Amino acid sequence: MNAPTTREQWTVLSLTTSAREYLTTHGIDEARLTVDLLLAHVLGISRLELYLQYDRPLTSTEITRFKDLLKRRLTHEPLQYVLGETEFMGLALKVNPHVLIPRPETELVVEKTLETIKEFSEGAPRVLDIGTGSGNIAIAVAHYAPHVDVTAIDVSGDALAVAEENIRRHALDNVTLENLDLFSDRLLGRRFDVAVSNPPYVSAEEFTNLEPEVRDFEPALATTDESDGLRFIRRISAVAESILNPGGAVIVELGHGQSEGAREMLGVAGLEKIQVFEDYASIPRVIRGWQPDEGSLRA
Ligand code: GLN
Repeated sequence: MNAPTTREQWTVLSLTTSAREYLTTHGIDEARLTVDLLLAHVLGISRLELYLQYDRPLTSTEITRFKDLLKRRLTHEPLQYVLGETEFMGLALKVNPHVLIPRPETELVVEKTLETIKEFSEGAPRVLDIGTGSGNIAIAVAHYAPHVDVTAIDVSGDALAVAEENIRRHALDNVTLENLDLFSDRLLGRRFDVAVSNPPYVSAEEFTNLEPEVRDFEPALATTDESDGLRFIRRISAVAESILNPGGAVIVELGHGQSEGAREMLGVAGLEKIQVFEDYASIPRVIRGWQPDEGSLRA
């Protein structure tokens, strides 16, 4: 960035203009949004307030802090980690490199879960969120359906610490966290009405081709299964009968091109009424299957 001459003073306008050009020439997308959000973050104000303070002179401390954040973004660290925050289903959530950054398409998982729990009219439906990460799915479900009882599990203690902060932030008393592995037998026999998951579905092969923002910064544990991408849905299908109440449902997010494989796995496991839902980009993104009801005849 070209510093103003010594007599000049950086203002919100001159700094954002200069930083925007700098990011653009260094190949960072959404330069304007990035710069605005970073400076608003440093100043502790909203983006709108920033626009109303264009002539505000900046202190050297503010400029140094802004430059430090800008440098992190220039290394391709995702903006959400630099800010320490993101938004999911209209809820502000803390994120750090121990958790996957919640994606807009995962909102479809929550929408389908909210729709599905309406089928369980008696008492408090029990929902299991497998691999909760920042807690985004569990928290959105618990927030928008306060009568449900959510158990959110993750293998990563560091991720659970983030989820715990987010649960506290939204003052939820209907989410319980557990340090538990989907592949452990400790889950078997615990019964839920809905088991939901956005599992690590990127295959080992695809992982190497991911953009640097994801590959180099987001937790590999939350992104890839280091196999064919279907390891988690295979396991979820295999344990569905042991973790669901009769008539319960599984809802799982899928990667590109996984819907046929996933449909087959759920079908072989005896799940019924299997449906795949498309996201806003018309990509088959979420699969749902139902455990047969008690008393229904099975072939
Ligand atoms: N549940 C979190 C999400 O949907 C984390 C998922 C994961 O770690 N694979 O973003």
